[in-house]
Amino acid sequence: MIDFHTHTPAWRTATWLGGAPFSADDFVTFMDTAGVEQAVVLSHDGLFDARPQANDELAAFVGQYPQRLAGFGTVHPRHPDAAAEVDRMMTVLRLRGLKLHPWLQGFSTHEATLDPICEALAAHHGILLSHDGTPPYSTPAQIAALARRHPRLPVVLGHGGLHDCWREALALTRETANLYLCICGTPPYAARRILAEAPAEKVLFGTDAGLSDRKSQDYALARVAEIDGWGITDDQRRAMLVDNPRRLLARTTG
Ligand SMILES: [Zn+2]
Repeated sequence: MIDFHTHTPAWRTATWLGGAPFSADDFVTFMDTAGVEQAVVLSHDGLFDARPQANDELAAFVGQYPQRLAGFGTVHPRHPDAAAEVDRMMTVLRLRGLKLHPWLQGFSTHEATLDPICEALAAHHGILLSHDGTPPYSTPAQIAALARRHPRLPVVLGHGGLHDCWREALALTRETANLYLCICGTPPYAARRILAEAPAEKVLFGTDAGLSDRKSQDYALARVAEIDGWGITDDQRRAMLVDNPRRLLARTTG
């Protein structure tokens, strides 16, 4: 299976998300335990301090296992060099996409500064994954509005709306051609409805593994085990865990 939502350790930024650091070797060993062949690894430190150095460190981490780890860097959209940094991420650093977190990073998806960033990402066949599900700055409708401004760019709702916005995430995914939904931290009752009603080719799965301590490993394993309780069909499972993520990631390797 392919896990479309995991994180690097917190190397520099001590936050409530951070814990014990781990190496790429540790992470791949954990992936083997969880039955994960490939993982999208999102920036952590860059969400708090979006310096190019954060993307360099992410690239060095995923570069140790290029077949197993696909890195998504980040920029702050109000930074004047943000679009150029996206170019560098996708060419020099060979990252596969961009992670944005409008709530933590403190911006609105309606800001015009996002447009050259999204166009640069689309030009390199990258993928945008945004945190979602925590109003006021990360509602699925706000992220869908950004996706609609950039129809060439695949945009992933990183958390399927979480508890507060999963109905909105489901509705917008059905109605926005380039919007995808990652079930990650999404409650089981919502996952069942999403699987029943969303287009099967637009659903992804993520654990939010950050492997910082034993508890977070157990949490990620529990999320994988939970899939069996979602009333999922074999076809949906294959689409969500293999075909959909593989198709999206294949865009960025050609
Ligand atoms: Zn996350």
